[in-house]
Amino acid sequence: MKCPKCWKTEMEKSTHKGIEIDRCPDCKGIYFDVGELEAIIEKSIGAKIEDLPRIRIGSGKQDKKSAYCFRCDNEMSTIEEPGKVRFDMCEKCNAIFLDSGELTDMQNK
Ligand SMILES: [Zn+2]
Ligand SMILES: [Zn+2]
Repeated sequence: MKCPKCWKTEMEKSTHKGIEIDRCPDCKGIYFDVGELEAIIEKSIGAKIEDLPRIRIGSGKQDKKSAYCFRCDNEMSTIEEPGKVRFDMCEKCNAIFLDSGELTDMQNK
């Protein structure tokens, strides 16, 4: 599968704390399947993912800011809790894409 952010780089299989993830060798972004990251995020911010505000940025593949789920052919939504967490989520398969460093930020809080 291709990276939701770079659009042309193939993701590489990797393992993070026993969870299988796809990592982009270019931007170091991480793609999680449904459910895999929810527990980590909900624990670190103390809120349910479904309660977080959803922000749609950009308008499709032309906008470099928006992530794109190649599995579903679907533009991902940016979910943001100001000052706490920001990530992209595919509303179709519930996969989560984190930019480089976002997971580390979360775990450090
Ligand atoms: Zn990438
Ligand atoms: Zn998807």
